[in-house]
Amino acid sequence: MSDDTRRAFLGQLAQGATALAAPAILSGCARPEDWRTRVDGRWIGDNAVLGHRVRDAAAQPPAGARARRCDVLVVGSGIAGLSAARSLQRAGITDFAVLELEDEPGGNSRGHAMHGLRCPLGAHYLPLPGPSAPDIQAWLVEIGLAKQTSAGLKWDERQLCHSPQERLFIAGRWQDGLLPDVPRDSPTQAQYRLLAKAIAEAGRIGFALPTARAPWTPAHSALDAMTCSQWLRSQGIADPLVLTYMDYCCRDDYGAGSDTVSAWAAVHYFASRHGFSAPGDDSNDRDPVLTWPDGNAPLAQALRRPFEDRVQTGRAVFRIDEGLQGITAWAFAGAEVERWTARHVIVATPLFIAAHVLTAPPAPLVAAAKQQRRAPWMVANLRLDALPLDRVGAPLSWDNVIHGSPSLGYVDAQHQNLARVVGERLLTAYWTFPDADRRRLLQMSWQDATQMLLDDLRVVHPDLSERLQQVDIVRHGHAMSIPTPGLRSSAALAAIPDSAARVSFAHADLSAYSVFEEAFTRGDAAGRRVARRATS
Ligand SMILES: Cc1cc2nc3c(=O)[nH]c(=O)nc-3n(C[C@H](O)[C@H](O)[C@H](O)COP(=O)(O)OP(=O)(O)OC[C@H]3O[C@@H](n4cnc5c(N)ncnc54)[C@H](O)[C@@H]3O)c2cc1C
Repeated sequence: MSDDTRRAFLGQLAQGATALAAPAILSGCARPEDWRTRVDGRWIGDNAVLGHRVRDAAAQPPAGARARRCDVLVVGSGIAGLSAARSLQRAGITDFAVLELEDEPGGNSRGHAMHGLRCPLGAHYLPLPGPSAPDIQAWLVEIGLAKQTSAGLKWDERQLCHSPQERLFIAGRWQDGLLPDVPRDSPTQAQYRLLAKAIAEAGRIGFALPTARAPWTPAHSALDAMTCSQWLRSQGIADPLVLTYMDYCCRDDYGAGSDTVSAWAAVHYFASRHGFSAPGDDSNDRDPVLTWPDGNAPLAQALRRPFEDRVQTGRAVFRIDEGLQGITAWAFAGAEVERWTARHVIVATPLFIAAHVLTAPPAPLVAAAKQQRRAPWMVANLRLDALPLDRVGAPLSWDNVIHGSPSLGYVDAQHQNLARVVGERLLTAYWTFPDADRRRLLQMSWQDATQMLLDDLRVVHPDLSERLQQVDIVRHGHAMSIPTPGLRSSAALAAIPDSAARVSFAHADLSAYSVFEEAFTRGDAAGRRVARRATS
């Protein structure tokens, strides 16, 4: 579904229209909308007020700030900031502090709980890292998620996503897997095969995860110069089912559709991991992924555990001055302002924030930040008193997607429970919006957002509004950088990591898109760089 279509959908909902009507057969089940008076709901987890205070901070810092100091200051405690701090500590640097705007560290990898049931607020899985990520493999061994054996890594089965992993609702029933089932001799199957061939062919130029471990050649730049849709057309792929699937993949991974995302990013998703195979043409084993009820929150917790006491939350850095004697960073801390002095600073925030808070930002940072478009995301955790009614076909899976829906479907937060789950259930619904809808999303009431979710999901769960007890929704207004054409090949982006001497940068934005592997690696590299400088 294109950005325009989603915008239109959001617009209709804002005007009170119901975009997805329940099928006639189900309409008898629907109750009047009494959920609004009964359901406990709220926006949570994204301190837009404090974030916008940073945006609107006065040019001159106030007098009377509380003086603080450390050798190395890390700004931002997402995966990149935590990974940077870990590298500092491993290099023997102990005098560091991590400042975080939110009340909870972890950034887009934070978790949440409702009635004691854990659930994600953002990132919810990590594919098993391959040979191009030995440092991530080593860290996962270190925190006990895998063991090194003579036969290779042995993963903790309890943390691997259990079966059934994915299902798709299409043509009135749930089917296993996310690719629409089609007859083996159908034109769609032929197009699946064409796509598999095109991805394998494009993949020959070299892809890796993390991306920096693959070469960057003129062939990569050429692929990065076009959108995924343009590339699909150039490969002769026009089947609506295949196009809808690719659009969904782009939205799910990068927060924007195939008309917006670059062909490099679309190919990278497959070519850096498992490739793409037409259904039935391969073993079709699902990719093993690590996942937890609260998504990637346990990864963020494991990262920060060794230096938990140095992470200071509720501190929004609004200005960083680089002076001859050192660096001064100013932070809102509740009603106070703190003035931190440090020899080195690692800015582990999104690039547009880094460019904003530095009084003398390096030119490549400013240029790259201007180039980046950011996708707003919404993650809604729905607490139900019991499993809702379901349509026929494949059973409830970890990831559940409705074909052609403007949403990205939902995850069953209790999927990893080893015991049979009875009673309350928690479903986590994921949505992404065009950046033009950011303001509308910010102004939306939680009730209207919930109505939008219910309208989307009642096609598959007709009694969802009756089952709903509580809804906690987070808006990530500037969640992630969209890998638009030309961004990854941007010279400005490539020039950032070493563009300032005592200020370093660490964020998945440096890779032009956001996943755990990129954030971890960018943070680790910045931490090592600063540790070298600090000890030389
Ligand atoms: C809804 C959603 C789902 C996702 N799903 C997955 C997934 O399943 N798997 C996956 O690998 N990735 C996923 N991602 C991508 C995710 O962004 C990365 O995995 C990773 O968490 C990014 O880490 P980061 O440190 O680069 O950035 P961020 O998470 O953006 O961290 C930046 C931190 O800086 C803080 N900050 C910002 N400004 C200031 C300031 N002025 N002062 C102090 N602190 C500040 C922020 O509060 C934040 O904590 C998802 C992202 C979203 C939004």
